[in-house]
Amino acid sequence: MPKPRAKPTPACPPLQLEQALQLLEQSGRPPPAGDSGSAQWLQGLVDALVDLSSRDALTGLSNRRSFELALAREVDRVARSGEPALLLMLDVDHFKRVNDRFGHAAGDQVLRTVATALADSVRPMDLVARVGGEEFAIILPNCPAPFGAAVAERVRRRVELTPVMAGPTGAAIDVTISIGGAFAPQWVRSTPSLWIERADQQLYRAKALGRNLVQLEASAVSLVSAEERQALFDTHTGSEDHDD
Ligand code: GH3
Ligand code: MG
Ligand code: MG
Repeated sequence: MPKPRAKPTPACPPLQLEQALQLLEQSGRPPPAGDSGSAQWLQGLVDALVDLSSRDALTGLSNRRSFELALAREVDRVARSGEPALLLMLDVDHFKRVNDRFGHAAGDQVLRTVATALADSVRPMDLVARVGGEEFAIILPNCPAPFGAAVAERVRRRVELTPVMAGPTGAAIDVTISIGGAFAPQWVRSTPSLWIERADQQLYRAKALGRNLVQLEASAVSLVSAEERQALFDTHTGSEDHDD
């Protein structure tokens, strides 16, 4: 009996990769390694695009999207392991005045300098992100309370002491940040948005108390909200967007 003929596999249309390659080039990244079109080359291209879509273009820090992903992962990890973790929300003080006095380009330079100062003052395992115009966030996994307070203060001080030379005359601009922080409630399945909300409340306190200050929530356990207690019994992790 004649063998049934194998069905011909439909021809794969050629991939349209020019725009992807242009994006990489524009971002200053090298083209993927390997022979063009090879599996290694395509993997390199995908990896580079993933990296590009997780970074903030101005500062090179993680962007809001990758921050939210990392925070959701951290919420799960804390609920499983019971390890303490700290979320810091940071906001440049009176940043509008910088733009008004020195111009938008100088404001951008301030943001880049602040970003470098933040990244330089934490451990490699911590995630530093730009989450809005002049707003940043830091996730510190495995961070006991006394360590967290010391790190937050170190970050604040580092920015205060970092000179920013910018503006049309290269003038030194004094920059400070306010920091609010909240620990993830250990052993409780919280949600990323509740955690952000608690850290944000502390940030508002730091602003209201005069700025250039750190305010951390007093205790992670005693401040567990009714919503978080309810979440302990839910299987659903919950990761609603934080709309800011
Ligand atoms: P506060 O101390 O209360 O935080 O005051 P603020 O002036 O820092 O806050 P406000 O929200 O009034 O102003 C933030 C400013 O940040 C307004 C906006 O034009 C500016 N901004 C947002 N994104 C960028 C950016 O990417 N580059 C520059 N140069 N400015 C930006
Ligand atoms: Mg702000
Ligand atoms: Mg501000």
